[in-house]
Amino acid sequence: MVEGFHSQIRQIKVNGIREFATPNLVEGSNVYGEKLVKSGDEEFRIWDPFRSKLAAALKKGLRDFPVNPSDKILYLGASTGTTVSHISDLVGNKGLVFAVEPAVRVARELIENVASRRKNVIPIIEDARRPDSYFSVFGDVDLVYCDIAQSDQTDIAIKNCKAFLKNKGIMLIIIKTRSIDVTMSPYSVVAMESEKLKKSNFHINQTINLDPFDKDHALIHATYSPGNGK
Ligand code: SAM
Repeated sequence: MVEGFHSQIRQIKVNGIREFATPNLVEGSNVYGEKLVKSGDEEFRIWDPFRSKLAAALKKGLRDFPVNPSDKILYLGASTGTTVSHISDLVGNKGLVFAVEPAVRVARELIENVASRRKNVIPIIEDARRPDSYFSVFGDVDLVYCDIAQSDQTDIAIKNCKAFLKNKGIMLIIIKTRSIDVTMSPYSVVAMESEKLKKSNFHINQTINLDPFDKDHALIHATYSPGNGK
């Protein structure tokens, strides 16, 4: 990724290595032990590519970073909110992140460490297989982000896009190949999931192998064009 390609993301040197960082929406507060660094008048949070697959994708050359100020994002598989918190920094106070996580113990941390301090994060304690149960999501979203490590995750992501993603909206999906089929090569699993997306009105823009940050994981960046079929 080239310097200046995204207005919100900085590259800041930590111990001689350039790391990505997001402007801290809650000054003085970190979420998962990440470093806070001052640059000019602003505080930034270092974005750890070994803890967040979206930062790993940036490191591995994600060309079109689809998170902008004021965006509405539907995030499936929020866990304790590591990546959600950086997306929250980037959409800012005029944006919203609907963060879906069904595991109650994990969701408690998401609420305590992230949603209670960030007004733009709306936790939804539900299974992403049931988008009809999210009562707090309103209108269409700009981006669906899916990182749920289930064998049927591509179908789950498609179902959520049909329900909530705007026409020409972007979906980012993390494919954990070993959750889908341990007997197939990771390359074949990604190709199989890409075919499913193409048959459901997605155009694949980029596929990124997340190794060495996450072994056997890929990120797919796709545009949703349902036309009248939504
Ligand atoms: N995206 C997170 C991050 O970067 O900080 C890490 C996500 S972790 C790999 C996968 C999460 O998906 C787990 O917290 C798990 O509970 C959640 N998950 C599993 N099945 C799910 C489902 N059916 N609907 C929504 N979330 C699910």
